Amino acid sequence: MELTNTLTMKKEAFVPHEPGKVNMYTCGPTVYHFAHIGNFRSYLMEDVLEKFLRYQGYDVRRVMNITDVGHLSSDADTGEDKMLKGAKREHKSVMEIAQFYTNAFFKDCEKLNIRKPDTVVPATSRIPDFIEMVEKLLEKGYAYQAGGNVYFDTGKLDKYYVFGNQNSEDLAVGVRESVDADENKRNKTDFVLWFTKSKFDGQELKWESPWGLGYPGWHIECSAISVKELGGYLDIHCGGIDNAFPHHTNEIAQSEAYLGHPWCKYWFHVLHLNDARGKMSKSKGDFLDVALLEKKGYNPLAYRLFCLQSHYRKPLTFSFESLDNAAQAYQKLVGRVAALAKEGEPDLEGARPFQEKFAQALGNDLNTSLALTVLYDLLKSGVSDATKRWLVASFDQVLSLDLLEAAEKAAAQKGEAVSPEEAAEIEALLEKRAAARKAKDWPAADAIRDELAARHVVMKDTPTGVEWHIEK
Ligand SMILES: [Zn+2]
Repeated sequence: MELTNTLTMKKEAFVPHEPGKVNMYTCGPTVYHFAHIGNFRSYLMEDVLEKFLRYQGYDVRRVMNITDVGHLSSDADTGEDKMLKGAKREHKSVMEIAQFYTNAFFKDCEKLNIRKPDTVVPATSRIPDFIEMVEKLLEKGYAYQAGGNVYFDTGKLDKYYVFGNQNSEDLAVGVRESVDADENKRNKTDFVLWFTKSKFDGQELKWESPWGLGYPGWHIECSAISVKELGGYLDIHCGGIDNAFPHHTNEIAQSEAYLGHPWCKYWFHVLHLNDARGKMSKSKGDFLDVALLEKKGYNPLAYRLFCLQSHYRKPLTFSFESLDNAAQAYQKLVGRVAALAKEGEPDLEGARPFQEKFAQALGNDLNTSLALTVLYDLLKSGVSDATKRWLVASFDQVLSLDLLEAAEKAAAQKGEAVSPEEAAEIEALLEKRAAARKAKDWPAADAIRDELAARHVVMKDTPTGVEWHIEK
């Protein structure tokens, strides 16, 4: 397959270090709050990449860290520790906050059908490894101690800004974030490997180290965890584009200085999810998380489809209007799958051209929208229903839209005179109504009830959910 590599900003043929095997690392969440749907755009596209590599027969090993210490409010080593901020806000301990938001993160992943990586490592569980790495960097002359902290010396590198897209804009942000200049730094771009001097007395988590009681800088965790779990040659490193600088730039600096050779071959970055005001972030206005989508009556998989409709290397603009469109598209898709006859054997010969097109689309820099087009073309095509169902199941190993399951559900609920499309629409309305009632949004619930009544839907509440039929 071909992937756009941020190192060169070009589409490159993907060739893993070891044939047939892929080592993949993902920067996990900083668990001080719920992740917003912009964060999930990255995790979701990374999930598609992982599943497509498996679909292609690769043996994929994927590791993710959980940042539960050391990530300061600004990525440039300044500001308060994010975890501590979360703990103060909720009057809990840092570890309680970490546990709660780690669980919440994976629950949201599950709703979005994002597979949990094979190995998930909380940063606080690997402090001795970080210390070992910092010691080696000091030994090799890539690090220095100043003012109680240990810094990485970026002046020792031939090239610090390694990414092909590192333009003056990125660098300006870096400079702006370091306004709170740290006079211990030899170079403006140096970063902290180990803190013993924190401006914040309240830092709860501290460990003994050769440099005194302290805690790790944010970047060291990903290098140390990745090298330990996946070895010195990493195939793909994933993350949101905002992590490219300084986080990934610093990861490369310290990993390659530590290893003494090039480390990661492909950098897979997912672009931002924007809203009307620009890049989505936690600090701005209303907080769009998976729970809010559900509260508003959306199936999280409609958001998954929304993300799949566009290319990961392009910024995506979110609005409820476009999510509505995706939700409708999802219901229609489910309806069409529900309309397929279940009898018969698939024609594997007839399926092959579709399989090839699907693999070509995703193999071309993970073109998910083209892969969806192949799915639509398939449903419109003349191949047998059994072949279509077989291919839908196959494609869904990567797309993870639960198409057959949702179709089953829609079909089970359909009344005699209801088409699968209509059944799917009614299902969607019922879900919306349930969510509106749960949120005590009575006007919305009433409006949906009226719409259902207009469609002659008769509902009955049962212990297992709402049963319904059409009575004209
Ligand atoms: Zn990272």
